[in-house]
Amino acid sequence: MSPDQYSFADPRTLYPSISPPVQQQPEPAVQAKMTPVPDLGENSYRGSGRLQGRKALITGGDSGIGGAVAIAFAREGADVAISYLPEEEQDARHIVALIEEAGRTAVAFPGDLKNKDYCHRLVDAAVDGLGGLDIVVSNAGKQVFVEKIEDLSDEQFEDTMHTNVFAMFWLAKAAVPHLKPGSTIICTASLEAYNQLPFLLDYATTKGAINNFSKALAQQLAPRGIRVNAVAPGPTWTALQVSQGFPPEKLPEYGKDNPLGRSGQPAELAPAYVYLASGESSFTIGETLNVNGGMPTP
Ligand code: NAD
Ligand code: MG
Repeated sequence: MSPDQYSFADPRTLYPSISPPVQQQPEPAVQAKMTPVPDLGENSYRGSGRLQGRKALITGGDSGIGGAVAIAFAREGADVAISYLPEEEQDARHIVALIEEAGRTAVAFPGDLKNKDYCHRLVDAAVDGLGGLDIVVSNAGKQVFVEKIEDLSDEQFEDTMHTNVFAMFWLAKAAVPHLKPGSTIICTASLEAYNQLPFLLDYATTKGAINNFSKALAQQLAPRGIRVNAVAPGPTWTALQVSQGFPPEKLPEYGKDNPLGRSGQPAELAPAYVYLASGESSFTIGETLNVNGGMPTP
């Protein structure tokens, strides 16, 4: 049997300590063109029926963490709708094929989450295509580094806010009327919510907001039987880093400064989302699950 997420292993060496070569792509980066290509658990994630019959919408489900979550959810028995930008069709096809290989229904609905109308149509497409909705994963995000506030354009500040915060709000607002008791919403915060890199001013601002949004919404929706939680990833090797998310010359050292001494792979984030989506976390509400290689958080 090949190793999977249940295998006993040393976390320091379970995934290689990579030193990615300096590389750049226009935003949004295509994961298939990265060196090395991130590991989404294609060859390791083993499902055990934890989300049997569930119906999930995952934004940014074409690549990185969202892609790994889509694979895991499908192998756990869920039908999955993914959103992504039209330029990411190649990555989206890879994920759709893996969802279908797991024997589940896949819905692919590309578009720009900065557009409120698209967010509403995305929820409708998921409900129509899956025959309902009971898991919403707000995962899509924009991260572009700028060293000085004077160089941070109003346009970038607004785009980061719209992608990371407004879209999350629009999606949740559109989805809630469809969500029965037992449903779950999972937001994607970041270590940046607590431990801000100075060149990620706009991004770090949104991640603090996402964390607070999930905790406030959790209290609002728990009395209705809908649980809201967040996952806060730490440095994970994904397409965000090669499209100006991180200073290119620092890429070879990316993520090496945490106690584990290496960056994470998207495959290592997926189980946190599975846990928060499944009934196993029935008493876990308004929590932020930090998955970051050992960086202390509040
Ligand atoms: P990724 O690039 O693979 O995924 C991000 C996705 O966001 C893209 O695939 C794209 O489809 C989507 N997206 C961006 N702008 C969009 C827009 N305007 N409209 C529609 N979709 C859009 O990178 P990732 O690292 O897997 O990112 C997933 C989430 O994880 C993000 O919220 C990110 O902030 C968060 N996160 C990542 C890290 C990390 O180190 N990689 C750390 C903390 C938090
Ligand atoms: Mg992508």
